[in-house]
Amino acid sequence: GGLAPGATADLDKEQVLGVLEAVWRRGDLNLERALYSHANAVTNKYCGGGVYYRGLVEFSNICQNDCSYCGIRNNQKDVWRYTMPEEEVVEVAKWALENGIRNIMLQGGELKTEQRLEYLERCVRAIREQTTKLDLEMRARAASTTTAEAAAAAQADAESKPGQEPELGVVVSLSVGELPMEQYQRLFRAGARRYLIRIETSNPDLYAALHPEPMSWHTRVECLRNLKKAGYMLGTGVMVGLPGQTLHDLAGDVMFFRDIKADMIGMGPFITQPGTPATDKWTALYPNANKNSHMKSMFDLTTAMNALVRITMGNVNISATTALQAIIPTGREIALERGANVVMPILTPTQYRESYQLYEGKPCITDTAVQCRRCLDMRLHSVGKTSAAGVWGDPASFLHPI
Ligand code: SAM
Repeated sequence: GGLAPGATADLDKEQVLGVLEAVWRRGDLNLERALYSHANAVTNKYCGGGVYYRGLVEFSNICQNDCSYCGIRNNQKDVWRYTMPEEEVVEVAKWALENGIRNIMLQGGELKTEQRLEYLERCVRAIREQTTKLDLEMRARAASTTTAEAAAAAQADAESKPGQEPELGVVVSLSVGELPMEQYQRLFRAGARRYLIRIETSNPDLYAALHPEPMSWHTRVECLRNLKKAGYMLGTGVMVGLPGQTLHDLAGDVMFFRDIKADMIGMGPFITQPGTPATDKWTALYPNANKNSHMKSMFDLTTAMNALVRITMGNVNISATTALQAIIPTGREIALERGANVVMPILTPTQYRESYQLYEGKPCITDTAVQCRRCLDMRLHSVGKTSAAGVWGDPASFLHPI
C-alpha cells in the first residue's frame, strides 16, 4: 500500500517473505490482487505493454552434469541424445528473423570440451553473419534500395546511438551452463551477447543437496560474476517448489537477483520427472500430496515471485516461463499480467523436442515453430499485450554492450 502507480519499492527480505507467506496461505486476496496489479503497472511503465520474444533453440541434450531434478541429466536413462547440426541451428535463426523474432537463445546440456566450444563458436558466428546479411536483404527489399544502401542506413542509425552495436540480424543468447571465464570470453567474441544461467536456489545448502559434486554453489556464483565481467547481459533465475525449499529461501532469491544485478530473471515451478532423484525426494517428502493443488500453489508462488522482482527491481526483463504453462494452459499469459515481459517461443525442430523433456508434461512437444509463433501472438493478444518491435528486445533504457 501507499505506492504511487508504477513506482518501484526497495523491499527487504522480511517484506518479501511477508508477501510470499500471504500468497502461500491464500489468506489475503486483496493483497494478492494489489500485488499483481501494481507489478503490472510497473511492467507497463518500463515496457509499455510490449512483450519481447526470445526464440529458444534446444540444440543438444548431451550433458556432463547430473542435476538431480533434470530430465536430461547425465545419468538419466532412456534418453536419445542428440546435437543439432550447425546448419540446422543457423536455419532456425534465419527462420526466426523472417518471422519477426530478433533474439534467439541457444540452450543445451553442458559440456566443457574444446569440441563443444568450437561448435558453439561456429554456430554463433554463422548466425550473426547470415542473419545480418539476411536482415540487410530484407531491409533493402522493404525500402526498394540496394543492400549497400540498407547497410549505410543501419550504420548511420547506429552512430546516432553511441555505445551500441549496429542493430542488425539476430541477437544471440546462450544458456550452456558453467564454463571457464576464457570460454565465456571466446563466445562473447564470437558474437553472443546475453547469457542465461539460473542459480537454481540462492540457498547454498539446498543447492548442494540437489547438485552432486563437483558442482558447487560458489562456482555457479563465480560464473554469474564472470559473465557480467565478460560483458554479457546476465540472465539468472530459480525453480520454485524444490524439495526442501522454504519461503525463506525464495525471499532470499529475490534479494540475490537484486544484489547480483541481473538483467533478466526466469523462474519456473519445479516439476517432477520420473527417474530423477529430486522427484523421488519430492515424493518421499509429500507422500499424500494432492499434486494438482500443490502445483497450483507453486504456480501462484512463482508468479508472486515475478511480481515481487518486478516491484523491487523495476527495469529488468522477466520471463514468463514454459514450465508455468505446464501447470495452467494459459499460465504464461497470466504471468505477463503479473510482472513478466518476455516469452520464449520454442523453435527447436519438432523431431528433437521429445528428447528435450526436462520435466513431465512439458508443453508444445509435438508442435512446430510456426505453430508456437502464431499461438503466442494470440496468447499475448488475449491479455492486451503485443509483441514489441526493435532489434534488441529490451526496454528502451537498456544500454547494449559493444
Ligand atoms: N545446462 C544449462 C544450465 O544448466 O544452465 C541449460 C539447460 S537446463 C536443462 C535449463 C533449466 O531447466 C535449468 O536451469 C533448470 O532450472 C530447468 N529445469 C531442469 N529440470 C527441471 C524440472 N524438473 N522442473 C523445472 N525446471 C527444470
